Amino acid sequence: MHQKILDICKRRGIVYPSFEIYGGVSGFYDYGPIGARIKHNIEELIREYYIIDEGCWEVECPVISPAQVWIASGHIENFADMMTECLNCGEPYRADHLIEKHLNISCDGMSINQIHELIEKNDITCPKCSGKLDAVYDYNLMFETEIGPGKYKQTAYLRPETAQTTYLSFRRLWEISRRKLPIGVLQIGHSFRNEISPRQGMIRLREFSQAEIQFWVEPEHKEHERFDEVSDIEVKIITGENEEITTTLGEAVKRDIIKIQIIAYFLGKSIRLFGDMGINQEKLRLRQHTDEERAFYSADTWDIEFMSSNFGRIELVGISDRQDYDLSAHMKLSKQDMRVNYNGKKFIPHTIEVAYGIDRPIYCVLESCYRSDRTYFRFPKKIVPYLVGVFPLVRKDDLPKKAIEVFKALKKEKFYGFYDQTGSIGKRYARADEIGVPYSITVDYQSMEDDTVTIRNRDTKEQTRVKIDELVAYLRSST
Ligand SMILES: [Zn+2]
Repeated sequence: MHQKILDICKRRGIVYPSFEIYGGVSGFYDYGPIGARIKHNIEELIREYYIIDEGCWEVECPVISPAQVWIASGHIENFADMMTECLNCGEPYRADHLIEKHLNISCDGMSINQIHELIEKNDITCPKCSGKLDAVYDYNLMFETEIGPGKYKQTAYLRPETAQTTYLSFRRLWEISRRKLPIGVLQIGHSFRNEISPRQGMIRLREFSQAEIQFWVEPEHKEHERFDEVSDIEVKIITGENEEITTTLGEAVKRDIIKIQIIAYFLGKSIRLFGDMGINQEKLRLRQHTDEERAFYSADTWDIEFMSSNFGRIELVGISDRQDYDLSAHMKLSKQDMRVNYNGKKFIPHTIEVAYGIDRPIYCVLESCYRSDRTYFRFPKKIVPYLVGVFPLVRKDDLPKKAIEVFKALKKEKFYGFYDQTGSIGKRYARADEIGVPYSITVDYQSMEDDTVTIRNRDTKEQTRVKIDELVAYLRSST
């Protein structure tokens, strides 16, 4: 199935490897004409959930930032993977991945020395040429660059996450919010990680998109006033012992499995969001990070993972209590006061972060919506690349002319659609289905007499005859 999805993705312009004419570089993907539309719709859906429904702000910050930002955040010191190279053929490897694959153990929390010893003790060699492996060292994952020339030149980095860049303007956002908590700020944009050897297609990219929301709250108020709206959602939780339990979010909080209510609230909201994207909710699992794997800035982190039939567990969102780590760190280095006066107290707000990848959910949407019976994607209408295709039944007797009139009328009403008159009508339906277009509108001989068209439904293949005058209303009511 995976290969078939990839074939359609390349052939129809959903996603494909970048820089193909120069042999490609792993970890980079293009969104083609169809994929870019889907990605845009998914980002809009996130905005609906967080800007409209949750009342968040949205910001957009630069992807390049001066070194100070990443010194303060701890990324220069800590944002690294353990790397080794083959002394014979030079192939680079993530040392922990080599061990995990070889010994089937988890390397979370191990030091460089421990990793190095395990490689020596177990005679782990280069998987390519069996050569001896070099000493293990920390390899920072940030892309380094420079800003400006000559004496103004300064070291800079491409951001490895959007979150930090949101924190930098906290003071301003506090004023704009008229000094009230909680404040939620969404940022959607590109981030960069110079992965050692990304080999998992869209799942591990060197340049990727994120939607990260920072919620600034009072340190002792980590509840959410709308928790009731998600408390009935049934979830599958993977516990520390790798057992799976099924419960509701309300129960999970009551039984102290999820200790922070606001984290449970955003887990619930995310499950709904993924469902609206078209991701199969049956395949979602909640998992708390263990002490060893939790990032250096986080007090508690929960992920939602998708059980992919091809890649195994795919992390789609991480929800963390970052406490006052980031604001304190920037306060220390920048000497700018990040404390607020609120409710009679002076404090640094705590951050609850909701961090979505965009590319990974898109892969999971593709895997979830793919139907192998007719080879098509059953995308929800909110994320389809095009809502309608308009076709003349045949290319004669003025049918194309009338079909183009219908197409123009739909364009005027701002529907995303396309016109196609090439090949048999059956082939055109199949092409529209393949990229998940829900409605195929056909102008036939009867149209010439009574000003009606047929609308074919992608999922049922049923055809309904509708008056051209009523087409817009029909499409609006069905979306
Ligand atoms: Zn080698």
